[in-house]
Amino acid sequence: MKLASLAVALLLSANITLASDMCTNSHEIICKNAKAETQEQDKFLEELAKRIRKEAAPRIQARAEAALKNIAKFRLIKRALTLMRIEQQEIMRVAQESYPEINALLSDKTKHEELKSYLKTAIETTDFSTEVKAEMQRTLSAVQIISFEEYIDIFAIDESLIKNMNANACGTDGLETNAFAYRDPQKQNANYVVICPGLALQSQVQANQADPFRDIIFVVAHELGHHLDNRTFGNKVYANYLACIANDHAQELVLTKKTEKTCKKSSITECRVANTLTHAQELISDVWGFKAVNAYRNRNGYNIVDTENLLKSNLQFLCGSLDYGVHPSGHFRLGVHLQVNQDAKEALSCQDSQLRTCSF
Ligand SMILES: [Zn+2]
Repeated sequence: MKLASLAVALLLSANITLASDMCTNSHEIICKNAKAETQEQDKFLEELAKRIRKEAAPRIQARAEAALKNIAKFRLIKRALTLMRIEQQEIMRVAQESYPEINALLSDKTKHEELKSYLKTAIETTDFSTEVKAEMQRTLSAVQIISFEEYIDIFAIDESLIKNMNANACGTDGLETNAFAYRDPQKQNANYVVICPGLALQSQVQANQADPFRDIIFVVAHELGHHLDNRTFGNKVYANYLACIANDHAQELVLTKKTEKTCKKSSITECRVANTLTHAQELISDVWGFKAVNAYRNRNGYNIVDTENLLKSNLQFLCGSLDYGVHPSGHFRLGVHLQVNQDAKEALSCQDSQLRTCSF
């Protein structure tokens, strides 16, 4: 009898999942020790980048001297481009010698499809129409995840170096820990997400778990999400979500100079809409990021503790970032936006809060 009632009690308690503290305190929990926790790793990465640059330098010099001999002095763009490609190739070579595993992220198409698959699952969880979902699936299927080296090769074709370098977020040597979305303006449907070698290195340096790419799910999904954002699919598709942000949270976003001018001449409602729209691409891409993380958690059957760690390791890089009128601040993205996000709430088993959900 005693044993039976114990079993019943255990069964009952197994069904009760406690809500995570992150439901109400996400920014504090993610960022509390962020600086201390990432300091060691940042230092290691900095040293690693320095060593890679140093080791690559003589190889770069030797190759550059030989290559530039064959390009006329007045062909400045061609010379700069050639130099950059050599620099990048040699830096990549040294980086790959240090961490051969980064190849999987930079050039393994199966891995890229897997990273895209979390967003593909996410698209089906939205409340968009069947047609919009299908169009988003098609768009996402066509997005290519490429390395920085491939990116340089793509725009080397038309030598539009300067224009394209504006879009580059990898740094000239590719060692920024970043990724970015890129759309070739010359071609139709030429959509890319560029993974910087720096990010690939970072994912390896911190990788000591079963999936070395676990901690960049959000970053990659955010960048893939830019190909699905309101710039491509229009504000109408995202109307409910944008209205929710404009109404409930626009006052927490920083105005750009231009929006400030608009606001002086318009109503509070119009001002909020305008302010939401300057941040919309980033906000929407963050929602896609949260969705992908949730899809990943679901697929891997994570419990609350695993989920908290997953969110923390994926999002910690946003701690301390400021709002310059396009990207909302880290405080907003990790505090407010995460707490009103349907997928984050689901992942963390949050109860209904006073804050209305703003998602799609
Ligand atoms: Zn972005």
